[in-house]
Amino acid sequence: MRQPHHLPIPWTGVDRRRTVHRGGVLPSLHGPSSSRSASVGRSPWGTAVTWDAVVVGSGPGGLSCAAILAAEGRKVVVLEQGASPGGYLASFRRGRYIFDAAVDCIAGLDPGGIFTRILKELGIDEKLQRIRLDPIRVSLFPGLTVRVDARLEEYIERLVRLFPAERKGIEDHFRRAGEMYDDLESMTSDVFGEPDGATRLPAVLGLYRDLSYSEFLGCDIRDRRLAAVLSDRCPFLGLSPRRVSAVRMVSLVMSYFRSGAFRPAGGHQRLADLLVDGIRNKGGEFLSRKAVKTIFVEGGRCTRVLTEDGDEFTARHVVSNADPHETLYRRNGDESQRVLAGMPFDHRVSPSFFVLYAAISGGVSPPEGASSIGAFDRFDLDALLNPYLPFRETESLGISVPTVTDPSLAPEGHHVVIAHELVPAGFSVDWNRAKDALAKQLLRKAERVLPGMSARLVHFEAATPLTLARYTRNHGGAAFGWEQTPEFPRLRHGIPNLYQVGHWSETGSGVLAAAWSGVRAAKRMMKDTL
Ligand SMILES: Cc1cc2nc3c(=O)[nH]c(=O)nc-3n(C[C@H](O)[C@H](O)[C@H](O)COP(=O)(O)OP(=O)(O)OC[C@H]3O[C@@H](n4cnc5c(N)ncnc54)[C@H](O)[C@@H]3O)c2cc1C
Repeated sequence: MRQPHHLPIPWTGVDRRRTVHRGGVLPSLHGPSSSRSASVGRSPWGTAVTWDAVVVGSGPGGLSCAAILAAEGRKVVVLEQGASPGGYLASFRRGRYIFDAAVDCIAGLDPGGIFTRILKELGIDEKLQRIRLDPIRVSLFPGLTVRVDARLEEYIERLVRLFPAERKGIEDHFRRAGEMYDDLESMTSDVFGEPDGATRLPAVLGLYRDLSYSEFLGCDIRDRRLAAVLSDRCPFLGLSPRRVSAVRMVSLVMSYFRSGAFRPAGGHQRLADLLVDGIRNKGGEFLSRKAVKTIFVEGGRCTRVLTEDGDEFTARHVVSNADPHETLYRRNGDESQRVLAGMPFDHRVSPSFFVLYAAISGGVSPPEGASSIGAFDRFDLDALLNPYLPFRETESLGISVPTVTDPSLAPEGHHVVIAHELVPAGFSVDWNRAKDALAKQLLRKAERVLPGMSARLVHFEAATPLTLARYTRNHGGAAFGWEQTPEFPRLRHGIPNLYQVGHWSETGSGVLAAAWSGVRAAKRMMKDTL
């Protein structure tokens, strides 16, 4: 394994006593099994160390990057502002119930999937128990219930039965989407093999990258009800079919058919904790409650990062998994202006969510036995989502009952129910005052999908966009980074050893894309100079 370079830290105003681990107010749900603390004397940063890479933030993007670097023997440290790793992968416990704070399900856990490959590189793949969802979900429209089968062929047959006149359109649509996804997949596998691969834009992707999803659907689909059914994932990106990027939507929809929709048994936190265990086992470090305040840019390169509690980490490469709207580069004089100028701050940010976490006693009978349900009060999703009026739409919402597939999340005979209400960026309300009333409103909505649940409520609480922002520092609680339109921005800061990963990077939003950005950054880094 490569050792860190022992260079003096060029900044001496650090009170090393502050590195003493203060313990967690909010304990991690499971906690990485190795409980190394950041105490003076044991920690490598207590001596003068230059890390191969400092990773700011432990969302799926940061952890994936750190995992690949650690597996390759690079000296890497992950600095996380929160009490536990994972960002939006976080789960939390209330009594005997486990709730996923944000993420419902992810792709990339199939045998060839990106997380499986990362876990294999760390030598710990067999430690993660996976639950594959079938159906992936069910979508409820007025007078129409559509089960989204895990196998694409079955789903296509189902759609053909529902819309027989559209047989050819349905087949052509999925052939076209499949070709686009082939390109995306080839870029992902290139990244594992050949680091240069991800820089070229394959032909089919190039063809559709300027299209909205509704334009893409328009290539083959005529029936507006069918178009709505095929757009049932748009709320996940928070945009109407007319505004959302075709590439982003196809990538989201097809990833679940190709790679499967999964939940780690015991909650998504398991995946984050396992990645941290793997990073540590390979000699890397993970430090919680280490918020990075400033990334220093000096002489055209990132040189070091400073944490809010006054610790400094010198690094050959800096990976930021943090929202670039954060002040990470701002307090750093003229040179940081170059980084800021390369960030597309004029592009809008994605929406957030108001999330209801409920536990109920007794059984549930979700439609089609699905653990993930999308409910829509109309077929015109452009009218519904452009703009979405939170808490005014009485019927539309996303709801999941993860205990349908993973009973370990609640005591026997009980269920966990999580409901999501989309909150567009810029929507303003006094969340602290309105929270309780809005939670009850969302509960009433959820009743329409799971009748009688209010009467069997054992626990309920809610997270507002402010809560999401507090736990992840995605400002406004942005769920998906930049708004995922075809005009999706490019980051051009020109700092050779600074890598933006996660959903604020160019690979787009969602856990899978975030992980891909992390792997890509790690591979580029190793090719460049490590
Ligand atoms: C309610 C909700 C539901 C979702 N459902 C799904 C889903 O079902 N499937 C899916 O694929 N995606 C889903 N998403 C989107 C997905 O969660 C995100 O796109 C993804 O997590 C982004 O990953 P990331 O790597 O950018 O890191 P994030 O998850 O955004 O985490 C960033 C991390 O960096 C840390 N950090 C930030 N600033 C600092 C700092 N200054 N110093 C140190 N650490 C810092 C944060 O604490 C956090 O741990 C959902 C999002 C939300 C909000």
